[in-house]
Amino acid sequence: MNYNMSYNYCALLLTSIIFILYLRKYKNVTLAKQNKTYRKMLLLHLMTIILGIVMYLLFAHASQGILVRIMLILCAFFFYVTHSIIPYLFACYSTALTSVAFSTRTSFLLKLPLVIPTLLILLSPWKGCLFYIDENCIFHRGPFMPVFHLVSLGYLCYACIYAHHFRHVLKLSKRVSLYGFVIFSVLPVIIQHIIPSLALSKYGISLCLLLIYLKIERPEESLDSTTGLFNQHAFLHACKLRLKTQTKFEIIFITLDYKSLNHQIFGSPYTKRILKMFASYLQQLSSMISIYHVTERTFALILPQKHSITVPAFLMQVKERLAEPFRYGVTDVFLNGIICYMQCPEDTDKLAYISSCIELLENKKTAYNNEIIYAKDLNLNFSERRTQVELALQRAIKCRTFEVYYQPIFSTKDQRIVSAEALLRLNDPILGFIPPDEFIPIAEETGMIIEIGDFVLHSVCQFIKENNLPQYDIQFIEINLSVIQCMQLNMAEYILQLTEEYGLSPSQINLEITETAASDSPKMLQINMNTLVNSAVTFSLDDYGTGYSNVAYIMELPFHMIKLDKSMVWSSFENSRASIAFESTVAMIQKLGMHIVAEGVETYDQADFLTSLGIEYLQGFYFAKPMPAKKFIQYLIAQQNPD
Ligand code: C2E
Ligand code: CA
Ligand code: CA
Repeated sequence: MNYNMSYNYCALLLTSIIFILYLRKYKNVTLAKQNKTYRKMLLLHLMTIILGIVMYLLFAHASQGILVRIMLILCAFFFYVTHSIIPYLFACYSTALTSVAFSTRTSFLLKLPLVIPTLLILLSPWKGCLFYIDENCIFHRGPFMPVFHLVSLGYLCYACIYAHHFRHVLKLSKRVSLYGFVIFSVLPVIIQHIIPSLALSKYGISLCLLLIYLKIERPEESLDSTTGLFNQHAFLHACKLRLKTQTKFEIIFITLDYKSLNHQIFGSPYTKRILKMFASYLQQLSSMISIYHVTERTFALILPQKHSITVPAFLMQVKERLAEPFRYGVTDVFLNGIICYMQCPEDTDKLAYISSCIELLENKKTAYNNEIIYAKDLNLNFSERRTQVELALQRAIKCRTFEVYYQPIFSTKDQRIVSAEALLRLNDPILGFIPPDEFIPIAEETGMIIEIGDFVLHSVCQFIKENNLPQYDIQFIEINLSVIQCMQLNMAEYILQLTEEYGLSPSQINLEITETAASDSPKMLQINMNTLVNSAVTFSLDDYGTGYSNVAYIMELPFHMIKLDKSMVWSSFENSRASIAFESTVAMIQKLGMHIVAEGVETYDQADFLTSLGIEYLQGFYFAKPMPAKKFIQYLIAQQNPD
């Protein structure tokens, strides 16, 4: 038969490229079971394609004698051997993705169906079960071919069912890739059955392997560019899987001394080479251990579920090595470090705990005396929510994962949105959403608020500039300033410089300050406020009605607006005394010539009543909740085009 071989040549090219790329990318890492299985699949598939092509070429010369005929039989023999193993490997790959270790019995049962194709292949040269070559050297499929395909299909189905069963562990994209593998490998076989000359099946599997490379293996995402080892992402993923599937595992963290790696002193190429050198040292310790470079100075080793390593001796070995010098060029370098041993789930079954441990080791700046510490002895109060939030803040500052939301402010006079308040959001990959009422006080106590406040200022300026807010009749954006920011000596200059940098008018910014900020730093604040007000930046007194509501601040400091706190607004609806107090407060502020924003407006009745008191600005869920920048712009566009 005349086959159209072009798909086979494409398959050969594609698989060779993936195989070479894979070998290159993973050359420095101790491969996990998943990666090893994938590599085997690539290799076997490559062999199958090559054998298929050789067989095709031999057919052309089949009439030339017995030698070619024997070669043809041999090729067909090995072709079906490699062909039969790939579906089995695929089933193993699917199980390896969940990191669940199989018992010897389960592994045996998984291998058992392979007996069928093995027998069929072994008997074929004599009995022609799977294939036979007639006297005219023409290749024929044997009567047992459907059985061979059924076993393969069985493995593919097993892989899918397994992936579906572990859907809580495997991300949708991974599961879809596994299901895709089955579809793309079965469909071409069916097509080939209908149009036998169209040799599509190898190409189909090559595409499947490419899909797995891009969607599951993803070397760019899981490898560290400095050392070529697996990175933090791969490490946390490996831990997460093991925790979810309740697989026992042990981790050894090694954090190198901050001073020995200080690239400000030695330069970054030096640090890179030292880290690489240390990575090679770890690699030659044992081929059973998976090694990860998780943060700049910290390496993590995951021991397999079953191993023959004596942990205390192993830890001692690393400790002693760390105390010895490493040869770097012509000099000896003492790395020194700290070794931490952790057992999961005995020490923890929380990913946040493991992640916190890395951060604490990485941020430890003293006493790298090569000591061995046991995670169970660490009294690090990981369980305290506060520590976790602090670490989440560090993460967010480093990765800039905060997001600024905008809550519209409605003008009762103009009957439309005229400004918005910028409100910070933190969605941590480990802790999830953390409300600002929780993280802002912690950021203030730890001083991180300076960097965070800076982020908000930059984001808002960028937002105003990028979207040209005046086109939507937005007069200004309100930014919350914390006490510590107000105490900064150069606050005024800094903010003015920022507006200039972004080409904004200072009047496009309104700064919200609470009473506490005003009372904690009256002198500094007054100087800063005067400078800013002279340059047309306006100020609001935030949360009025929650503290002492000291009228002195209103009188002394140049506030443009007073924001009545939601608790005050709500209580005015609850009883007549509170209502009297509220109304007289409103009247007093109005007489002082200041504008009022009423916060926490949630109903039509509230909005109506507050408007009747002559309050100019309303803010609350009745109008809109805080929303991401993009949505806010859509909201403004919708306001301009009401239908
Ligand atoms: P805040 O300055 O008083 O902000 C108003 C809070 O009231 C926001 O809470 C907002 O979502 C909420 N709110 C607005 N309208 C309504 C309503 O109708 N009903 C109810 N129940 N709530 C409403 P959020 O965003 O959780 O912020 C809480 C606090 O965190 C803010 O109170 C502010 O003190 C602080 N904060 C937020 N972002 C920043 C920031 O960038 N810097 C600083 N320093 N503090 C910030
Ligand atoms: Ca505010
Ligand atoms: Ca407020």
